Amino acid sequence: MSKFLYFYAVNISIFGASQGLLPDLVLAEVQEAILDFPKYGSVLYLPHRSEEFLAMVLDCENRWRKLMDIPADYAVLFLQGGASLGFLVAALNLHTSSKRLAYAETGLWAQKAIEEARKTGLFVDVWASGKSAHFAKIPVLKNIPQDFDFLHITANNTVYGTQYQDFPDTAVPLVADLTSEWLTRKIPVEKFALLYGGTQKHVGIAGLCVYIVNKDLLGRGVLPIPNVLNLQNYINNQGVYHTPNVFAIYVMQRMLCYLDSQGGVAFANAKLKQNATVLYQTLEKFPSVYRLHADESCRSIINIVFFLQNQKHQTDFEQILAKNNILGVQGHRSFGGYRISLYLSTSPQKILQICQLLQDFALKIS
Ligand code: PMP
Repeated sequence: MSKFLYFYAVNISIFGASQGLLPDLVLAEVQEAILDFPKYGSVLYLPHRSEEFLAMVLDCENRWRKLMDIPADYAVLFLQGGASLGFLVAALNLHTSSKRLAYAETGLWAQKAIEEARKTGLFVDVWASGKSAHFAKIPVLKNIPQDFDFLHITANNTVYGTQYQDFPDTAVPLVADLTSEWLTRKIPVEKFALLYGGTQKHVGIAGLCVYIVNKDLLGRGVLPIPNVLNLQNYINNQGVYHTPNVFAIYVMQRMLCYLDSQGGVAFANAKLKQNATVLYQTLEKFPSVYRLHADESCRSIINIVFFLQNQKHQTDFEQILAKNNILGVQGHRSFGGYRISLYLSTSPQKILQICQLLQDFALKIS
């Protein structure tokens, strides 16, 4: 068995939130491209101004357009950095002379987006917050005044395991951080001024942030925008303003091809829903052992967050996970508990394995 199948060979299961797995097929393609790539010998040596790379960028753009049904007046851009940089990119590129931004505070990443936007000096209004409910619920967002430049939401809250089931109905343009849910459900792109997010969970590896932006809403601001953060610069330069993360773009291209071949967003959505349902049902079967964090009205199909009802079982539970080579189930360091992350390539067999384990543990201590 080739080395890239190591994880499966030794039966390690990774459910960590930080980084999704790549499907075997994609991992094999990437492995090969590092050591054997047309003309340049390795994909790592592909120059960012080469016609091959520019064609790759265009191919990625077209694949995103097809997978998400993106209207022609939106640009699709691949910048370095993660969504943490996107927080600033969003505020700087989409504010107008009214300088008023609305944010929904639905968890840690939303808070970080707010914090970054505030550093620009723009007026940032936390229009709704789930803080008092420990972010177990997504607050209702309505009657948003028209004079906001945008309303920022975090579509899937990776730390707290909540997810918008429907997007807010408002005339104010929406901006969404899609880091932990890219390409896993149909998004009405035309409701958004900007969709952005890192690729490391569902669409490849870290170091790359995808921006899908309504071009008509750019260039109306009053603050100076540093060149590398200015989306218009990328639009003016075929998407390549400076040296991008060529390797991460290559991995993303392989992931987009893979997803397309499997049935696109509809496939991803059905798979994630199926996996999440099995997991939620297992945890719910044992309410005296496990406590789900997210309110039923807004449960994420991507990050499932739960606590043990009785802390005295913590060591035992964690030892069982470790003994079974189950990695990454600990909750976010700021919140605790446990979190099972179901990114695109999580196999249903691994879900069944962890469900069996959750069940065995619950029966043992009940
Ligand atoms: N937003 C969300 C919803 C996230 O889950 C994360 C990372 N887990 C980020 C933003 C930050 O991403 P990065 O670390 O790549 O900047």
